[in-house]
Order: sequence, then structure tokens, then C-alpha cells
Amino acid sequence: MPNTDSAPPSNFIRTIVARDLSEDKNNGRIVTRFPPEPNGYLHIGHAKSICLNFGIAAENRGGLCNLRFDDTNPSKEEVEYVESIKQDVRWLGFDWGDRLHYASDYFEKLYQFAVELIKMGKAYVCSLTAEEVKKYRGTLTETGTDSPYRTRSVEENLDLFERMRKGEFEDGTHVLRAKIDMTSPNLNMRDPAIYRIKKTSHHRTGDTWCIYPMYDFTHCLSDSIEGITHSLCTLEFEDHRPLYDWFLDELNVDCHPQQIEFARLNLSFSITSKRKLLRLVEEDRVSSWDDPRMPTISGIRRRGYTPESIRNFCERISVAKKKSVVDIGLLEYSIRENLNEQAPRVLAVLRPLKVIIDNYPEDQTEELDALNHPQNPDMGTRKIPFSREIYIERDDFLEDPPKKFFRLAPGREVRLRYAYYITCERIIKDEQTGDVIEVHCTYDPESRGGSTPDGRKVKGTIHWASAAHCVNADVRLYERLFNKENPDSDGSDFTEYLNPDSLETLTECKLEPGLAHATPDTRFQFERLGYFYPDPVDSSEKALVFNRIVTLRDSWAKITKKNLSSK
Ligand code: ATP
Ligand code: MG
Repeated sequence: MPNTDSAPPSNFIRTIVARDLSEDKNNGRIVTRFPPEPNGYLHIGHAKSICLNFGIAAENRGGLCNLRFDDTNPSKEEVEYVESIKQDVRWLGFDWGDRLHYASDYFEKLYQFAVELIKMGKAYVCSLTAEEVKKYRGTLTETGTDSPYRTRSVEENLDLFERMRKGEFEDGTHVLRAKIDMTSPNLNMRDPAIYRIKKTSHHRTGDTWCIYPMYDFTHCLSDSIEGITHSLCTLEFEDHRPLYDWFLDELNVDCHPQQIEFARLNLSFSITSKRKLLRLVEEDRVSSWDDPRMPTISGIRRRGYTPESIRNFCERISVAKKKSVVDIGLLEYSIRENLNEQAPRVLAVLRPLKVIIDNYPEDQTEELDALNHPQNPDMGTRKIPFSREIYIERDDFLEDPPKKFFRLAPGREVRLRYAYYITCERIIKDEQTGDVIEVHCTYDPESRGGSTPDGRKVKGTIHWASAAHCVNADVRLYERLFNKENPDSDGSDFTEYLNPDSLETLTECKLEPGLAHATPDTRFQFERLGYFYPDPVDSSEKALVFNRIVTLRDSWAKITKKNLSSK
């Protein structure tokens, strides 16, 4: 793994930016922007773009990065999305300062640019129907045909365009198109639409407008208005770059940003498309946009990921032109690594089995010393109560254990973490089900703290919680949302590959008492189990709810391997 503490590794965009700076291009300015369309919540793919744009600005002196909402499509955009996007960018650790913009703020300017194009004879009002436009456009192998309206006079175009603005025409009756080249091999250059009529209220401009500029026209000009130097976008815009440049060249603007494309982040066992994630929400496949299984930034945050781990992840996956799918294991690695360093350790029993220590005094409680982080003494110690009745993990007991099982079993001795050695003497079973419901043990009073004067060794150390003192909690165990590596690849509906076991909720888990006051400021390692986080929405002192952020080790790789080999 690359070390992210040192100077970040270069990539082709950093190289371009460094070269531009050394040549004093743009008077040595670096201005980037992150331009989300507020039509959904941001996902992990957007995190890559955010880290790239804000990162490039931050690592160059005087560099700036704007947050610009690309809100040209009035029907799909909502205030809720705007607010969530701001929150997500801030949470990731980036600050746009006073550089918050909306493409809709430029509607009047954009209109004037369109008028200018008309006056230059570079744009015309086309009155073909949408179907006709499609037919006239041609295909990749056939050239297009000029629209019969292409030869309208400048005066007529100006008049019609103004009347479009005034609302004299119905949706779909006219569009304003750039007059470029219907024979261009690049379909984007075949007289693309610049403005369309859409009598829909806009979340910011209300009913001021009934014509709205198209994305390609808006984007390059918004970049130019804001003085962007490097307009970083994903590969699907590569074919749009000639159009991006065409508008800026024809309109002869002062600032002509350089568009540079990079590969989108695709994540295995995941989906990175707002539209598809919206479907999961609308069809109640998940609880909400911030369901902790969602690859949205809000879901990842609620699950308990740290912003630092996401930034490290984005640095590790690097930025390149080549399309690729990143292993979700790398995201999990990033949070595990981050929390391994900083998360305090605690004891929690998720699937409790009662253990009674018959020779321990009934009315006695001891406060035992426990380390908050065994590898980091600076994180100090805490006291945990111990008494006669405790809970251990159901998995840590087997009535009939195989040889290599080093945990509790009849006649066997184990160490209780930070406490004593206990030996299983007898078990009590449910008469009907035959399940073990209680384990009776004896303890060795000389083994306090985990060793004995005789130096006797026990192989297993298990965690526990004192029955009289522990606090109850619900614990939500998350698995991957999809059970197919690329749920989106084979033409079938991606929802077919939703993992039915992506959420398991355990109730009455037994936690050491200090966790009664846990708040979402802290992520914990439940020893031997994984990293956990108090759910910021549902958890309270009265009813604790913890999310499993990630397991301690990557058990998934092993499980899938086993499944594959058993088929
Ligand atoms: P989606 O397909 O999820 O709707 P989008 O590209 O339409 O994504 P935008 O809101 O337009 O979403 O994206 C804002 C910025 O984030 C754009 O510059 C876009 O290129 C970038 N972006 C979107 N998805 C990814 C991704 N998977 N990896 C990297 N950058 C992305
Ligand atoms: Mg988009």
C-alpha cells in the first residue's frame, strides 16, 4: 500500500497542473470546481471527484475550488439534495469558502450568450419535433441531414428565441440549436440543442424562466464565467470536449478552461449511479439515502466511516484515464487501517450465552483494569466491572469441540480478557430445544489479570460482559449490499443481485457499561469482532444502536472462495 502520509503520488492530472504552473499558464492560477447536479445524494464516486478537485486546489498555493450546482434541469432538482451535497463535501473535509455557485445564477448571462450566437449566425431556432430531430441527426455510420429551419434568418431566430423566453410556445415545439456541422463524425457536433422550452418551476429561479439551457452549453460557460482553469470531468465527456471548446471559441470569451477527463470510480459489489441508488430508495430496498449499506457519502458516514479513511481511499485508487473497477475490499481496508490506530477497544458480547461462576462470591463486584488500546498505552486504561454472572459469545462455547477449538468447552479452561481463568464444569440445556442455555464454571482466584503464579498456560482468551452491569444494545451487522461483483454488468436488473443478508439486526447485545453514554463522536473496536459506531439517527442513551462499520479482517474473500470451490 502506498503511504499516504508522505507527499501524494503523482497522477496525470497533477502532472498537467504542475506543467501549467511551471509555464505560468493562466498567470499561475489554479481554479477547479466540483459541479454536482442536485438530483440525488452523492456517492463514493463523487468522493473521488471531490478529493481530486478540492485536492488539486489545496495542494497548489493560491489554488481555489468552487462548489457549483449544475441546476439546469428544473424538474429533477431539489433543495434537499443541495443541502445534502453541501453537508457531504464539508464532512469530507473540504471548504468552498465564499465560492458557492449555481449554474442557475448565470441564466441571464447564458441567455445573452445564446443571443450572441444567434447574431453571429451560429445558432438557430429549430421547430422539428423531437422524433424528427432524432431522424435528422443520423447515426454513427450515417451523416446527419440539415434541419429545414437551419436557414432561418438571424432576425427570425432572434424573434422566435425571445418569444420562447416569453412563454409563447408550448414545451417541445421549438429548440435553439448550435449551427455546427450535421456531417461531423462526432454526434455531439451535429447541431446540438442549446435551449429547450420547459414550463416547469425551478428550485431557485421559480417561474422566471420557461426555457432552460442544456448541459453542454451551460457547463463550459459556467466554467468560463467562474475563471476555472482546469475543468476535470469523467470520461463520458471526452466526446463532448470539441463542443465545450466550440462554444468558448465562437463566443470568444476571456477565460477558456481546459477540460481534462479521468475514469469514473466503479466499486465492486456496489453501484455508483444516482439514478439507480434513487431506485433503491424509492422501492424501499434500503431504508433511506443514508442507509448504512448505501455507497452514498451519507450512508458511509452514518455507517461510521471517517472522512480521513475516504480521503485515503481516494488517494490510493489514484486518477487515471483507464476504466477500472476498484475492489470494495480496498475501501474496507482504508477504514480498518484508520480505526485500528485510533479506535478505543471495548468488550461487547453480541450473541450472549450466560456463564455462572459458581465459586465466585455472590455479592462481590470487582473493578478490573482494561487497556483502551493495547498497542497504544497513551490511550490509557479504564475499569470494567466483573461479577459472578457474565455473558460470553455463544460462538465461544462448544459442547463438543474439535481439537483446535481453543475456547470454552466442557472441562476446558480459558482466559477471560482482563479478568480470570475459568473452567467449564457443567452445562444446562433447554429441555425442549436441547440448546445450551447456561454454562457453569469455576474460576481460579489466583489468575486475576490474566496469569497465574504457576505460569500455567491457556490457549484461548475470550471477551465477556458482567450480567449485572452490562448495557443492552441493538447491533446492526452489515454485509455487502450486492452479492455480485459487478451487479450492473450483464444486462439484467441490478436489483436481482441485492444481497438478502446485507443487514442482520441483533438485539439484547451485552456491552460493557461505559458504552451506555456512547455518542457518534467515537468509533469503537469491539474486541475480536470489528469496528462499531453508535447509529447517529437511531441510537440514544435509552436505546443504544450500534452499526458494524467493518469486521476486523476481510472474511468476505475467504467466504466467496469457499462458496466458489464448493460449487
Ligand atoms: P450519476 O451517474 O451518479 O448521476 P453524474 O456524473 O451524473 O453521476 P454529477 O452530479 O453530474 O453526477 O457529478 C458531479 C461530478 O462528479 C461530475 O464532475 C462527475 O464527473 C463526477 N462523478 C460522478 N460520478 C463519478 C464517479 N463514479 N467517479 C468519479 N467522478 C464522478
Ligand atoms: Mg451528470
